[in-house]
Amino acid sequence: MLDWGGRGLSVMEMSHRSPEIVGIAEQAEQTLRDLLGISADYAVLFLQGGASAQFSAVPLNLGFETVQADYLNTGQWSKKAIAEAGRYLDVNVVASAEASNFSAIPPQDLWQMGSSAAYLHYTPNETIGGVEFFWTPQVDVPLVVDMSSTILSRRIDVSQYGVIYAGAQKNIGPAGLTLVIVKRDLLGQANPKTPATLDWKIAADSDSMYNTPPTFALYLAGLVFQWLQDQGGLEAMEIINRRKAEKLYAEIDNNDFYANPVEVESRSLMNIPFTLANADLDKQFLAEAETAGLLNLKGHRSVGGMRASIYNAVTEQAVDALICLMQDFAARNG
Ligand SMILES: *Cc1c(COP(=O)(O)O)cnc(C)c1O
Repeated sequence: MLDWGGRGLSVMEMSHRSPEIVGIAEQAEQTLRDLLGISADYAVLFLQGGASAQFSAVPLNLGFETVQADYLNTGQWSKKAIAEAGRYLDVNVVASAEASNFSAIPPQDLWQMGSSAAYLHYTPNETIGGVEFFWTPQVDVPLVVDMSSTILSRRIDVSQYGVIYAGAQKNIGPAGLTLVIVKRDLLGQANPKTPATLDWKIAADSDSMYNTPPTFALYLAGLVFQWLQDQGGLEAMEIINRRKAEKLYAEIDNNDFYANPVEVESRSLMNIPFTLANADLDKQFLAEAETAGLLNLKGHRSVGGMRASIYNAVTEQAVDALICLMQDFAARNG
C-alpha cells in the first residue's frame, strides 16, 4: 500500500507513464489473458466510466457505418443499454422478457432479428433479476455483451464474442476501472464524434494510456487476477461458485417460506433474488441478517425481497451462514 517494490512510494503516487505502472498494466493484462484464454486477435482495454459509459461507447464505436443494432431485453441493465443506444442509432429489440417480469430468457427461435444490424447486444447476467445465460446465441453479427456481474465467475469462450465489457466492481476489483475486450477487426470504425476517451481504437493504440488510467484500481485488479490464478483459475472458481449457488437455491426451493421467480435453467450463479412468504417480515429478516454480519441483502426495489450477490469474493462459509439464518428464521416465523 505505502511502499511498492521497495521504491519508498505507493502505486498511487506513481506517474502513469512510469515504467512501474506500465509494468503493472502489462502484468495485469497478461494474467487476465491467461485466465480467460484471450487470443492476440483481441485488444484488452482498461478504461473508465463504468459499464454505463460503454452503453454509449458500443453504438459510437460500432454503429456508425451501419446505423441499426439488435438488442435483447432481459432486464434492468438491458433496458439501460437499450435506452442509451437509442440516442445514437436505430435499436431493434429482438425480444423482451418484460411481460414475465424478467423471470425467463426468450428462446432464440422467437427473436426478431433486424435486417441490417451492426451487432447484437445482450446481458449474459442480469444482476437485478438474477437471470443468467448458460448458452451463447448463434447469430451472423458480432455479439456484444455486458458481463459486469458474471465475468471471471466461470470459464467462457472469448472467441464467440465481438466485444465483452464489464465494470470492475463486481468480480474484478475496486470501482473506477472498466474492462473492454474487443476483437481487433472491429476497431477503427467509430463515429468521428466519439469522445476520444470512449474510442476503443485510441485506447488500443495507446495501451489504455490515452489519459491517466485509474492506476491504483488497475494495480488491485492485477492482484485479483493473480489471486484467481492461485485459486486454480476459472475452472476452480466455477466449481466453487456452482456449489455456492446450488446450495442456496436448494434452500429456497426446499423451504416453502422462500421463493425465487427465475426459470430453473436461467438462474444466476452470482445474483440470487428471493422473497419471503410474508413480505411484512422483510425488515426483520434484514435486521437479523445484519446482526449476524450478513450485509447488503436487500433486494432491488423492482423485484422486492432479498438478493444475495455471491460474487467471487463471497466465501462458501458466508453462503452457509446465510442458509443457516434462513432455516432458523423460517422455523421461527413460518
Ligand atoms: C453493475 C452493472 C452495471 C453498471 O456498472 P457501472 O460500472 O456502475 O456503470 C451495468 N451492467 C451490469 C450488468 C451491472 O451488473
